Amino acid sequence: MTKVSFIGLGNMGLPMAKNLVRAGHDVTGFDLVEGQLTELVKSGGKVSENLNDTLKNSEVVITMLPSGKHVKSVYLGEEGIIKNSPAGLLLIDSSTIDVESAREVEEVANKSNLKMLDAPVSGGVTGAEAGTLTFMVGGDEEAFEKGKELLDIMGGNVIHAGQAGNGQVAKICNNMLLAISMIGTSEAFNLAERLGLDSQTFYDISSTASGQCWSMTSYCPVPGPVPTSPANNNYKPGFSSALMLKDLRLSQEASKITNTETPLGAHSTEVYEKMEKGGYDNLDFSGVIKLISGELK
Ligand code: NAD
Repeated sequence: MTKVSFIGLGNMGLPMAKNLVRAGHDVTGFDLVEGQLTELVKSGGKVSENLNDTLKNSEVVITMLPSGKHVKSVYLGEEGIIKNSPAGLLLIDSSTIDVESAREVEEVANKSNLKMLDAPVSGGVTGAEAGTLTFMVGGDEEAFEKGKELLDIMGGNVIHAGQAGNGQVAKICNNMLLAISMIGTSEAFNLAERLGLDSQTFYDISSTASGQCWSMTSYCPVPGPVPTSPANNNYKPGFSSALMLKDLRLSQEASKITNTETPLGAHSTEVYEKMEKGGYDNLDFSGVIKLISGELK
């Protein structure tokens, strides 16, 4: 049994923490929202009034927070996790954040003789609930081996991506590619339909031909061909367009910093910005097909 402090019990963090409780670990949760804490207690977890007191008795800290700003504020500074952690505590940040912030926090942790992993996930809320997330993990080998046992409970696929920050690199590059492929898939289905080819027939052909991709075969943006895709459920997320835009913006920040051209990544960002401006960013990211077809303005 490992003593875990879990910080950030939102849509993702709560089911992840519950899975650790279910597996027999001693989990103490923290969140700014009272209701999330109550949910963890109902599942057999604990909550504590004082994070820094709890850290003294913990072996691992896991954070699942909205952005780099939140991660820095929780880890750094006099009141932060790093200053208040006993030697040997392993820190794991599973939030999706910018590579620079991830590397900065990990460097401060290492200077304080603490091991840290960046371990962002893909798989969404359903993956978090089912314990089937993919973890992309940056940090040294020793820390990875130590953290893997817990990550294996919350995930179906735990991959070591190399040095600190590389988990975030994998996450934002993967999601930039995902946005591009979803927009491409949507354009193809829309054009096929306008030319008189019905979606199911186009799917049957393209899903076994060279246009095949995950956005088509697992998450098809038109209703029908893939019954589990959000298109069959009024584009209820799933993975929202707002979260996709967040990740695309991270990819564009990273392109700027590294002076790397990502023209399709840049264009995809503009497309999802349109979803945001129109107030459609609460739709699943496959709902972008409605923008492409002209159904949304
Ligand atoms: P969320 O907004 O539902 O949860 C974040 C939680 O952090 C909230 O409950 C909030 O109260 C809490 N929080 C914020 N600041 C805090 C602080 N200082 N101390 C304690 N708690 C604090 O977000 P989410 O959907 O759970 O996503 C979390 C992270 O996972 C994000 O970085 C997101 O990009 C990433 N992610 C989300 C999904 C998804 O489908 N939701 C998929 C993959 C990755």
